[in-house]
Amino acid sequence: MATVLAAVGIGSNLEDPEAQVRSALQALETLPGCQLVSASSLYRSAPMGPQDQPDYINAAALLETTLGPHALLDALQAVERAHHRVRERHWGPRTLDLDLLTFGRICVADTRLTVPHPGLTLRAFVVFPLAEIAPELEIPGLPAPGTLRERMGETDIVRLTPPPHQG
Ligand code: ATP
Ligand code: MG
Ligand code: MG
Repeated sequence: MATVLAAVGIGSNLEDPEAQVRSALQALETLPGCQLVSASSLYRSAPMGPQDQPDYINAAALLETTLGPHALLDALQAVERAHHRVRERHWGPRTLDLDLLTFGRICVADTRLTVPHPGLTLRAFVVFPLAEIAPELEIPGLPAPGTLRERMGETDIVRLTPPPHQG
């Protein structure tokens, strides 16, 4: 069966965010129709949008999937719900956010789903984790993550765990 390589952005800033992100990565490992190909380190950064909320922990993952993009979004939202995600304020605090960043070379723009994710190029907390695991990923209409990271220069994002296989 044909598979597609999809990139997922993970974020949390409530109820032990590091544990939430690790738990999300575990959930992605067992997602039906998906194979977890790689997972980034965890990163910490200041919140985007409302500043009266805790720092965020973020990571990125690559999934090989037989699902279509909307079915994958359904699956990601089910994982969010399992982590007690409540939607309150726009960009407000959350236990878990799973965004579909890219879906192969496919573009989607409808009422439920925009892929590539429109925030991808501007957000260090997306670009840094993604560039760690897939610096040369082909993203339709955009530079590769490694190039995006270079262009961002200095940011406040902090990598929390060392890369695997160091020295
Ligand atoms: P942002 O998308 O700017 O990071 P957010 O992640 O806080 O904001 P959510 O509340 O998680 O936004 O999602 C709002 C809606 O965005 C979802 O119900 C979903 O239908 C829609 N959406 C559109 N494109 C995507 C995408 N690529 N990944 C995840 N959700 C998406
Ligand atoms: Mg988001
Ligand atoms: Mg989201």
